[in-house]
Amino acid sequence: MSTATEPIAPPQPLLALTEDELLFRDNVRQFADQALRPKVREMDEKGVFDHELLDQFFHLGFMGIEIPEQYGGAGGKFFDSILAVEEISRVDPSAGVIVDVQNTLVNNALLRWTTEDQKKRYLPKMASNTVGAYALSEAGSGSDAFALQTRAQLKGSEYVLNGRKLWITNGKEAGVFIMLATVDPSAGYKGVTAFIVEKSFPGFSVGKKEDKLGIRASSTCELILEDCKVPKENVLGEVGKGYKIAIETLNEGRIGIGAQMLGLARGAWECAAKYAQERKQFGKSIAEFQGVQFQLAQMATEIEAVRMMVYNTARMKDVGMNFVKEAAMTKLFASQVAERVASLCVEIFGGVGFTKDYPAEKYYRDAKIGKIYEGTSNMQLQTIAKLVLGK
Ligand SMILES: Cc1cc2nc3c(=O)[nH]c(=O)nc-3n(C[C@H](O)[C@H](O)[C@H](O)COP(=O)(O)OP(=O)(O)OC[C@H]3O[C@@H](n4cnc5c(N)ncnc54)[C@H](O)[C@@H]3O)c2cc1C
Repeated sequence: MSTATEPIAPPQPLLALTEDELLFRDNVRQFADQALRPKVREMDEKGVFDHELLDQFFHLGFMGIEIPEQYGGAGGKFFDSILAVEEISRVDPSAGVIVDVQNTLVNNALLRWTTEDQKKRYLPKMASNTVGAYALSEAGSGSDAFALQTRAQLKGSEYVLNGRKLWITNGKEAGVFIMLATVDPSAGYKGVTAFIVEKSFPGFSVGKKEDKLGIRASSTCELILEDCKVPKENVLGEVGKGYKIAIETLNEGRIGIGAQMLGLARGAWECAAKYAQERKQFGKSIAEFQGVQFQLAQMATEIEAVRMMVYNTARMKDVGMNFVKEAAMTKLFASQVAERVASLCVEIFGGVGFTKDYPAEKYYRDAKIGKIYEGTSNMQLQTIAKLVLGK
């Protein structure tokens, strides 16, 4: 595998897009502005994602971006998934994470680790009508993910799964779950195994849906496995190698969360810049005050830096370079910038920024999750420290 310092010819500016990428980005942007934006506030208030929008996501190819055309997908690159997550999150980070989990975690795991038979059974569904979810966390195992307790026991031709998963994004809408369980609790991480579980499997049910601070339209649910019967053919990858699947997919997923936070920061910045030019105090628009201009300039600079990190890390993944350190840095920094930008955005709106009449407060609430899921900021710092210090 190449290292980050090897040159790629010909060098291009980090933010350059190909013609196809530009076209795709503009399509996603147009959809997000026209079809998604009018529904965002109501979905946030109700804490429910609009099913018609989900259908449109499938229809427009946003749910199977990297799935090869032979399985009904769009045959795109990881970078295209990142562009989609960024553009959708600019308008609604809840919608962004639905597309993100589908593409960067679930489809990614299925593309990399499935047998040909599994590909034929699952990829066409994921591209056309089935939402996916990625179930690793439990009440007792978050940062310490491989302390998971969900048990898988082989009985004849099937595994029987028992346990409870917590915090599972897309839990309410999903039809297919990448489920991490242990076949041997005494083996530690070496017992962890990934399974493809369908919602219709006996013994599977969806439990409580969380009532959250932010990304409220994205469902976050408990999953209950009570003697859940999973055919042996539904082991994903090898028995005992689930930890590798979890680590490697989450490395890629972190670039996706970076893109979600980038989109969020852009969305917040754009509405703050617009408001600053409209709002008049002391006889002129507040954007004419240097204090406000400098705040907007500082935010724009940080967003530009995040964008370079997100795009560069996604390109590294697409060309097969090692991107583990860069993905951790991208997620860490993108979530910090998103929170700072969204917070300043509330302040630029003044009093109305604190109300639900304007979008600022929602961006601020939505930003908080970037520092928590797919590894908290401390976990990213731990990875970065290990890699930069060579430990
Ligand atoms: C909205 C939402 C969606 C989610 N979606 C999914 C999903 O789809 N699939 C899934 O599997 N999980 C999901 N999660 C779970 C998420 O990944 C975990 O919440 C996260 O990894 C943190 O785990 P925890 O909540 O148990 O916190 P803890 O691990 O208990 O951490 C609490 C605090 O302690 C700190 N800490 C812990 N250990 C250390 C250490 N060694 N050094 C320094 N600090 C430490 C953490 O940084 C954090 O600040 C989701 C969570 C939320 C809130």
